[in-house]
Amino acid sequence: MKKDKLTTASGRPYAYHEDSLTAGPRGPVLLQDYILHEKMAHFNRERIPERVVHAKGSGAYGTFTVTHDITQYTKAKLFNEIGKQTPVFLRFSTVGGEKGSADTERDPRGFALKFYTEDGNWDLVGNNTPVFFIKDAKKFSDFIHTQKREPRTNLKSATMVWDFWSLNPESLHQVMILMTDRGTPYGYRHMNGYGSHTFSMINKENERFFVKFHFKTAQGIKNFTGKEADQMRAEDMDFAQRDLYENIEKGNFPKWNLKIQVMTEQEVKNAVVNPFDVTKVWPHKDYPLIDVGVLELNKNPENYFQDVEQAAFSPAHIVDGIGFSPDKMLQGRILSYSDAQRYRLGANYEQIPVNRCPFMAINNYQRDGLMRIDGNGGSKPNYYPNSFDNIEADQNYAEPAFEIESTIADHFDRNAEGENDHFSQPGNLYRLLSQQDKENTISNIINSMNAIDGEKREEIILRQLCHWFRADTELGMHIAKGLNIDISKHFNM
Ligand code: NDP
Repeated sequence: MKKDKLTTASGRPYAYHEDSLTAGPRGPVLLQDYILHEKMAHFNRERIPERVVHAKGSGAYGTFTVTHDITQYTKAKLFNEIGKQTPVFLRFSTVGGEKGSADTERDPRGFALKFYTEDGNWDLVGNNTPVFFIKDAKKFSDFIHTQKREPRTNLKSATMVWDFWSLNPESLHQVMILMTDRGTPYGYRHMNGYGSHTFSMINKENERFFVKFHFKTAQGIKNFTGKEADQMRAEDMDFAQRDLYENIEKGNFPKWNLKIQVMTEQEVKNAVVNPFDVTKVWPHKDYPLIDVGVLELNKNPENYFQDVEQAAFSPAHIVDGIGFSPDKMLQGRILSYSDAQRYRLGANYEQIPVNRCPFMAINNYQRDGLMRIDGNGGSKPNYYPNSFDNIEADQNYAEPAFEIESTIADHFDRNAEGENDHFSQPGNLYRLLSQQDKENTISNIINSMNAIDGEKREEIILRQLCHWFRADTELGMHIAKGLNIDISKHFNM
């Protein structure tokens, strides 16, 4: 069989790959061995900046198929016909760990989905939980620092984690979910995905609806207990990557059923709980799940770095018929995610194949920048307006107006009515768990809080205990007992 030739990056075939060019068989290496330089210099540049969050991940290609008609809510083309299929790429991840960390850590899981639609790419960048730890992006860097390593010891620190959570009671709902066994899912196939934020949908009549997205696993929920997750960390750090990859290779394609919850603009005005607060869910009985379609993952990437590491998701990527909401956390992420991708991959990151929309010609006046590889607009004008090209800003894509409060202030009362009940929903969740799930959750909380150390241990534990009690008295009692806290000494019961 004819063999391909070994070449330099510039395409020159060469003869010796392993031996350096030397002066005599034992002599020093000559500077002119540029192949040696090229190999070493490229190797030195193999790493790109690690994602600050969601560094450890797995991804796969697949298809989204519409099974139900939701055109009364949205004109987005990907939903315009039952049976319509849209190619997707999905990246799962843990959140706090580094790129080499274990897949089974107790942590939310990222669920970032890119739909390649005929109207451009739509990224739904969510998690496996319907809520988040904070409701304002201004707290994000503080929160994430507590999930990373302590500055002095370079160790993970339960003290930092619980100090922040106890001082920030809006975290309780997400912490409650995290402490159930859903905090250690059995790989990525057996967990739900959620858009988490409230988004909007806009229909052909230009009416706006607010929506939440839910992807329910068709494989069934399956979790590790805390102990099993610890064991798996020792056995196989890459359990979730292996499980996803091997199942797709075998043709056992994982699926999720997409459902939405919908609120009209009028319902938003009358809602008691702020519908744009990402620390709260919309109760199913008030806002029932509506079937939309099926997501299937059916193709492993040919190359991990090319497709998974370079995949760049941003909530800023929406399509006609899908819009944002005033959710403060979403608003922060709209800016921050694209910014993070520009830092990680460069200003032209959208030209990398996994990020490029295959169905749309990209027409704008952005030019140049590192790694521009799409022709850079060729000889077309690089300014607007101009008398030469034939590109228009099409008013048909204008979004309908959205009424908001118009006062700007340095500080609004974040504890106003409808904003400050951080306890009912986590309590509801605890009460709906099976007895076994309750016991596992309590044990997970006790194990985690027991690791709080140092001079502030008691102060942090008591502050957090208050939150648990406010969610559910029985839950608080169990945790206090497990932590050996004499509640009669501290609380007026
Ligand atoms: P429902 O009884 O209608 O829904 C309960 C929801 O809880 C189901 O979606 C179920 O998911 C989910 N669930 C069960 N166990 C866990 C767990 N350990 N971690 C996270 N979710 C879990 O009640 P409500 O809609 O009134 O919600 C009650 C509570 O359920 C909420 O306060 C919230 O904590 C939680 N929840 C609510 C969701 C919502 O969108 N309304 C979504 C997810 C959780 P599944 O059906 O997949 O098993």
